Amino acid sequence: MSIQQNSQSAKEKTFSRMIKVYENGKFIDKEFLISKENPCCSMDKVFPFPLTGELFSFLSDKLSELFILPGFVDVHVHLREPGFSYKETIETGTAAAAAGGFTDVCSMPNINPAPDSLENLKIQSELIDKHAKVHVYPYGCITRSSKGDMLSDMDNLAEHVIAFTDDGKGVQQDDMMLAAMLKAKSLGKMIVAHCEDERYGTSPESEFLQVERDLKLVSKTGCKYHLCHASTKESIQLIRDAKKAGLPVSAETAPHYLVFCDEDVKDSGDFKMNPPIRKKADQEALIQGICDGTIDMIATDHAPHSAEEKGKGFKNSLNGIVGLETAFPLIYTNFVKKGIITFGQLIDLMSNNPRKIFNIPSSNKDGILVEVNAKHIVKREEFRTMGRSMPYDGMEVYGKCLATFINGRMVQ
Ligand SMILES: [Zn+2]
Repeated sequence: MSIQQNSQSAKEKTFSRMIKVYENGKFIDKEFLISKENPCCSMDKVFPFPLTGELFSFLSDKLSELFILPGFVDVHVHLREPGFSYKETIETGTAAAAAGGFTDVCSMPNINPAPDSLENLKIQSELIDKHAKVHVYPYGCITRSSKGDMLSDMDNLAEHVIAFTDDGKGVQQDDMMLAAMLKAKSLGKMIVAHCEDERYGTSPESEFLQVERDLKLVSKTGCKYHLCHASTKESIQLIRDAKKAGLPVSAETAPHYLVFCDEDVKDSGDFKMNPPIRKKADQEALIQGICDGTIDMIATDHAPHSAEEKGKGFKNSLNGIVGLETAFPLIYTNFVKKGIITFGQLIDLMSNNPRKIFNIPSSNKDGILVEVNAKHIVKREEFRTMGRSMPYDGMEVYGKCLATFINGRMVQ
């Protein structure tokens, strides 16, 4: 058989393919045998996956650049169930997570009933066991119904929740936050804070003054502390200083605060979230924060609402946009492709750091296959989430998750 015939038949049936595999902090070129006839082709015996038409075309396209990565982790996701299944369900939310390359998500407690007792948490946990397509780690409330008046049943919740948060609301009373930190510390759990001092509206002060208060309480208590959706330059500097002082703190920001500033905001529910998109100087400080490690991770704050709730213009729409299916392409396109961070830093921000800080296990049977060379367009009608509101519709992006594997199987 001539060489040409060989490669011709290879193109159609079986061929070998180099894929960069991320292992122990490095990208390693590995050769895989790809076979269309055998739907579970063996890839290094770690990632057997069924080849759908689209996947096969990416694999056979020589121009595509493929990576096998550890699954992304999103520590800030609103799955809305139980209580608000008209916005999202555990099934649709985790399908969106898988589509975006997330194998692990932490679900926020602003649901009904709120997981402020073991009994209430059980309602959510049963739905997760039944419907989740990726690993879901629920948070427990800091206070009863996140109302700020009385601590939740932290003692009994502790071993079943990833951490404690009242996300959606700041804990207004200093004494309550102090008590929560002392309790969390005694239970070996982390406090995850949505910082918003309600006396200051949604101004930058509302965030950073509460960050400042919390950091004082952290230095007093030694409680492990994580800041949700950092949006102001002052918050970043406070976290940077706290880390220098050796405090056990970490921080996340969301893609929308990195990609936009207030000059980009349009009169649409698509730009409405809390905290709001801030000034150029804040955006620049956040980008600096992901470059120098002050910000440990990118979390989406995926917060779906119904079309009606988001269709009332900027002023009257509810807070929250969806983000699971756009986070990777947005960060890849805006920061890796432009040389602002490396691909390795993206993996730190979206997988390694959240795993380390939140103690989320990794498995060599979980992972994702991604492609980074093909340009594609964000189309909200293609989303798996029930939410449609986000400011990226129609954007040209690079970086696509082609398949997500959980326990060695591709999530459908
Ligand atoms: Zn929040």
